Amino acid sequence: MSKDYYAILGVSKNATQDELKKAYRKLAVKYHPDKNQGNKEAEEKFKEINEAYDILKDDQKRAAYDRYGSDAFSGGGFNQQGGFGGFDFSGGFSNFSDIFEEMFGGFSGGRRQQHTQPGSDIRYDISITLEEAYYGKKTNIKFTTLIKCAACNGTGSEGNKKPSQCPTCGGRGSMRYNQGFITIEKPCPTCGGSGTVLSDPCKKCSGSGRVKGEKNLEISIPAGISDGSKIRITGEGEAGFKGAAAGNLYLFVNILPHKIFARDGNDLRCKVPVSIVVAALGGEIEIPDLEGNSCKLKIPQGIQSGTELKIKGHGMSVLKSNKKGDIIVTIQVETPTALTKKQQDILNEFQKEYNDKTNSPKSFEFFKKLKDLFNKKQ
Ligand SMILES: [Zn+2]
Ligand SMILES: [Zn+2]
Repeated sequence: MSKDYYAILGVSKNATQDELKKAYRKLAVKYHPDKNQGNKEAEEKFKEINEAYDILKDDQKRAAYDRYGSDAFSGGGFNQQGGFGGFDFSGGFSNFSDIFEEMFGGFSGGRRQQHTQPGSDIRYDISITLEEAYYGKKTNIKFTTLIKCAACNGTGSEGNKKPSQCPTCGGRGSMRYNQGFITIEKPCPTCGGSGTVLSDPCKKCSGSGRVKGEKNLEISIPAGISDGSKIRITGEGEAGFKGAAAGNLYLFVNILPHKIFARDGNDLRCKVPVSIVVAALGGEIEIPDLEGNSCKLKIPQGIQSGTELKIKGHGMSVLKSNKKGDIIVTIQVETPTALTKKQQDILNEFQKEYNDKTNSPKSFEFFKKLKDLFNKKQ
């Protein structure tokens, strides 16, 4: 059974909040438990008038009550599918507006938030050298986007006049429509959900609060950044509609190829060709790091192509740290070309002294295996 809260308080359905308050106070004093100790009837009545006033003093709850009756609050009302699980009055109303918001997308406050239109995010591609990635880089970038209108300071209102309440929705930003038992909320068609209208839109931005313009930003790329990194610069994207939040700027960092080094995480790799003389006798070569320091690298006697040698601590900057990776050198033994007659003579002379088994053990083993293979077949 639906209770008649208006009758309980002895007021008409059109009672104003003042009339409700007066009626409630009068009854509350009359039936207060302090004055009616031991009187069960008075106790019940006191509960009832509190229940009634609790609903009617709140415009949202009162509207729901007018539509659904007290059953909406006591559990006998709507089934789960309808949205109202039936919440217990005695448990208080703290969750009431939450549940309502879930059902209908919320009243004025929530709605307004949803329908403000923030600015879009912007992507900006930037190419830097490996050296710039090593040291980090501060630079200025320029791009064209929607920026906050200076004339109205982004409000969209001429002369910075405060926007007025939307006459269609009364500032709520949404309109309610009844469809049977269900009330549907939709953004207000007049104000688009903002709840406000501009009596005098800014002439520069036609009331949008933003205009096309050029942005000039100093950006900072940290040392050790990797190729393909994305840096977010909060709030530097497109300006929001009518003063809503701006979007973000995303810097996409591309590291250009380097003449000598290839990046490998925190290490720098390079291939170094060495002559057969250095490879055979051993020696020392110099490799410059990205700071231009010359790093001495010892080549051990008899080094083979493909051997990797490390120069510790001269590699790439490690992001957010003072550390450096390594330089990793891959040795490539270069066979001499365009030999002079004299050089050929020397090599022929050298060949006479050559011992395959000790001087070229790998090749010696390989050809021995080949020979064995042929001998078995025959
Ligand atoms: Zn403007
Ligand atoms: Zn409106």
